[in-house]
Amino acid sequence: MKELTAPQVSIRDAFWSPRLAVNAEKAIFHQWEQLEATRCIDNFRIAAGEKAGFREGFFFADSDAYKWLDAASRIYALHAEPELASLMDSLIALLARAQMEDGYLFTYNQIHFPNRRWVNLQIEHELYCHGHFIEAGVSHFEATGRRDLLDLCLKSADLLVQDFLNASSDKTCGHEEIEIALMRLYRVTDKAEYLELARQFVERRGRIPFFPFHFWSQFRHYNERKLYVKELRKSYIAEHPESASFRLPGDNYAKMPGFSRARRYFNEFLGFYAQQHAPIRKQTAPVGHSVRFGYLETALAMILRADVSTQSEKLKGFSFESVVPFVFREESDKTLLSTLEQAWERMVTRRMYITGGLGAAPEIEGFAADYDLDPEVAYAETCASIASLLWNWEMALLTKKAQYDDLFEWQLYNATNVGMGQNGDTYLYNNPLTVQQGVTRKQWYVVPCCPSNLSRTFADLGKYIFSVDQNNVWVHQYVSSEATIDVGAPVEIKIESELPWSGKVKIQIKPETQREFKLYLRRPSWNSSNQSKGLITASGYDPRLSNYQIISRVWSPQGETLEFDFNMSIHPRRAHPKVKGHVGKVALTRGPLVYCLESVDNPEVDIFTAQLDPTSLHDEFVPDLLGGCVVIQGKTTDHKPLKFIPYFLWANRGASQMTVWVNVPS
Ligand SMILES: [Zn+2]
Repeated sequence: MKELTAPQVSIRDAFWSPRLAVNAEKAIFHQWEQLEATRCIDNFRIAAGEKAGFREGFFFADSDAYKWLDAASRIYALHAEPELASLMDSLIALLARAQMEDGYLFTYNQIHFPNRRWVNLQIEHELYCHGHFIEAGVSHFEATGRRDLLDLCLKSADLLVQDFLNASSDKTCGHEEIEIALMRLYRVTDKAEYLELARQFVERRGRIPFFPFHFWSQFRHYNERKLYVKELRKSYIAEHPESASFRLPGDNYAKMPGFSRARRYFNEFLGFYAQQHAPIRKQTAPVGHSVRFGYLETALAMILRADVSTQSEKLKGFSFESVVPFVFREESDKTLLSTLEQAWERMVTRRMYITGGLGAAPEIEGFAADYDLDPEVAYAETCASIASLLWNWEMALLTKKAQYDDLFEWQLYNATNVGMGQNGDTYLYNNPLTVQQGVTRKQWYVVPCCPSNLSRTFADLGKYIFSVDQNNVWVHQYVSSEATIDVGAPVEIKIESELPWSGKVKIQIKPETQREFKLYLRRPSWNSSNQSKGLITASGYDPRLSNYQIISRVWSPQGETLEFDFNMSIHPRRAHPKVKGHVGKVALTRGPLVYCLESVDNPEVDIFTAQLDPTSLHDEFVPDLLGGCVVIQGKTTDHKPLKFIPYFLWANRGASQMTVWVNVPS
């Protein structure tokens, strides 16, 4: 299936356009200020030899600058703002000066360990950082047609090909990302080595002999280096007190489950944490760090879409597989697809929160056991749902199944959208479903991975609405927008959607000349009358109820309009009985939105003990609340009012308590 680019689709949507404007006009500039204020950009100045000072941030801090550049490029593709262009240009010029002659760019090593590289791939995110650098280069090239940043990235990518193609099985990054980057680079350059290297990185996972010992040695080595840097910092700051560090908020979880450290070590040393526990064809369940898992699945789906089997033929010769045939068997792409499908099914039916949030184990920022979905300790990192969006988009194009679009929509509106505050300058890192206290939006985090990830996702929204295959048109998402799509002849297609507040959608189709083709329209799972089937999933939400309605006809150049009205009734959803602590509780959803009780709206009740009378529910559009939204009004069994707001809007009015799951009479 062929994708459109975001600039090919113009979005004019009452819900999304203001969000995208905040992203382009506020969020991206706020993020730049934070990167400067927290000295992330200074790290490159120090590496370039242009500034004195001590390197700030974690070893992977470079990635935040690259992700900003990636997001800024995608925003620039839609709004060519000169102020943004000049920030991007100055950063690109700085990266060119900081990059080593052979393409290497990783300020942690360049500043603290010159001449050392690729020494701790499992823990230090060296390849991850190069991945985000390459992604920024691809996005910038796509946005501007310019090659300056892309050429720097090609230098890096060629270095990786030289150092990692046909390398041993321990040569993979602990945090997946480089695989996606290489696939994006392959798509714009058509250079088979990038595809092959991405494939090898994916195939190498889970093949490190005696992994616990390997990890132990990397862990010790990482700690030695960390200690060395700490000592360096201490002596530098003794001489330069003005360079003293500042404290930034960490991930703001309020509650950790018992035995967290032990569970973390168990996951890390057995390889689950970074999906190193089994070869890729055996990874049929989502495990470990949920952002890493999502990036791995995305990369694999991208590789399958690129038809790796044909491309691999181009690259004959030595490969590590050929020397270890007893552990590596060449199997068909079909097996890989089935692995992806099984992992997806397991995630959706047993390891996903009702919001689409992923990661119930905060100690590993990742997946817990089946049905282990405590709403209060939920990590559900914003980046994890973004990783899932990327994966689901690839799966939708790979399989043409509506369930992937459905989950995309659900995670976009809920688990992802909640990550950015209404004004674009505050963020949530982890996204629990119950908050007693201690979780609020922050302007920045010590690990600021989510803000720029949100910005690049929002900027790309146009890309995820339509696609084309064999001259037929797919409508994946109902966002008000217009595009001209080539089905052998140009067709103008326009969506006018009132989602998520009302179910009214109008689609106009106007081919330039009379034309026969099929239009595939996603029927959302939440529109299905068979919601009770949802009981088989842990969360109560089941994207598998979604399907495509196919309209096959000869379309006239006069234009035709299709109108439909999705069912927006309120669904009280129950979790699977195996999910602990959810008996006697429901979560309210309406259309694609999950709702919650926030204490600020419910001063008369204790939101955690209130009993909802499910017969009392009705919805109402409130224009002056949180930018205008549909709230759900109800009553407790003792007749006190309850007001539910969309989950993505919570935490915009100061510190408060919140819960998605509410008690109902048994
Ligand atoms: Zn994140």
